[in-house]
Amino acid sequence: MNATEQYLAKRDKYLMAQARHQLYRKPLIVERGSMEYLYDIEGREYLDCFSGILVTNCGHCNPEINAAAREQLDKLQHTSTFFLTRPMLDLAEKLAEITPEGLVRSFFVNSGSEAVDGAILLARKYTGSKTIIPVKMAYHGRTQLASSCTNISIYSDEEPGSEVLNIRFGYNGYCYRCPFQAKYPECGLKCAHAVEELIRQSPEKQIAAILVEPIQGVGGVITPPPGYLEVLEHIAHYYGGLLIIDEVQSGLGRTGRMFATSESGVSADILCLGKGLANGLPLAAYIAKDGIGESIDYPTFSTFGGNPLSSATALATIDYLIEHRLAEKAERAGERFRQGLEEIARESRWVGEVRGRGLFLAMELVREPGSKEPATEETLAIINECKENGLIVGKSGPFTNVLRVGPALTITDEQIDQALAILRRAFKTVEEKMGVR
Ligand code: PMP
Repeated sequence: MNATEQYLAKRDKYLMAQARHQLYRKPLIVERGSMEYLYDIEGREYLDCFSGILVTNCGHCNPEINAAAREQLDKLQHTSTFFLTRPMLDLAEKLAEITPEGLVRSFFVNSGSEAVDGAILLARKYTGSKTIIPVKMAYHGRTQLASSCTNISIYSDEEPGSEVLNIRFGYNGYCYRCPFQAKYPECGLKCAHAVEELIRQSPEKQIAAILVEPIQGVGGVITPPPGYLEVLEHIAHYYGGLLIIDEVQSGLGRTGRMFATSESGVSADILCLGKGLANGLPLAAYIAKDGIGESIDYPTFSTFGGNPLSSATALATIDYLIEHRLAEKAERAGERFRQGLEEIARESRWVGEVRGRGLFLAMELVREPGSKEPATEETLAIINECKENGLIVGKSGPFTNVLRVGPALTITDEQIDQALAILRRAFKTVEEKMGVR
């Protein structure tokens, strides 16, 4: 048995079934990372265009960030939120500076799921309402509350919704498969306006919050049309609720802006951050407007939330993002990557749509452009073929037919061209194998 086989045997023997879903048929066992690259335990190199699901925005084991982490590790690594530390308070101040205006009060936790949970509880407490409106195909996490607001059946076999809360799903802004068979802009944003009818039909007739990702990541990089978020913001406030924006995946430079909502004119009442916040160390936060952030005053404590190690790493991560202008870089690099994906789309009959913003990109694969039947097997075959040739790309969407691209924001033009060349060849090889080219 080689090392990979040995470790796969351990997986099969010791991990729960729910932990045995890896990206590839023959899973990658990763040994180390260096900026845009990962190395498996056999020593093979991969250009990583998925960044551990959009987490290592500043690259794997970024030396500048890791130096700050190492320094903190030798000074103080743990206290719990019952104590204060400089890194945690400096980070709270930094987040108030860099997040959209008005968001000033932070609570730190360990995962995006917990951040969404906390944001929902805060909205309930502030408004006195139990009704939460997430949208279809949302992914907000795996805790009971966050998974109840998730609407992709492959991630749960429970009915979405919750007995504690009144959860009703509005429409997402999924123009490629518009539920109203309408076209933007003539549609008048029916998807967003339909939320209002949902609230009118609910027993409370008022809400605690609308909860939405500006771009749905796990849902398949669903990028809503202009104006969608503005309509949701208006409806949330009209019905006495808050707007909770989940930027766990889209935040911190990924979309070519510090936050995906930065230029939309929409202002979150509570913002959820996670994933890339500490460039790979566990840290997440929900950040609220002043009065809202004061509405729970009983002690809520988190053992590891805002621990000094993750907080110091997050401070170094944000400094790195700003100093190296990674949001601007993501916009430029994203344009180059997108053009390449569009060229592949012109050559292949499987690409139904290329979408996303900055370096948060995807191609939805369908069997026939007319039928839009999800090309699930084909997507899997292409990402496997890419892996065999040293490129990691992701997949998502309810039918896992969305091929995702999300490299470190430090990616160079040469690396983008290299990734596109491997991807183009993978399409060709798989199409030939399946007899469609
Ligand atoms: N919100 C969004 C938008 C996410 O993409 C995710 C994770 N994919 C979460 C919340 C949950 O984060 P975590 O896995 O850290 O709990």
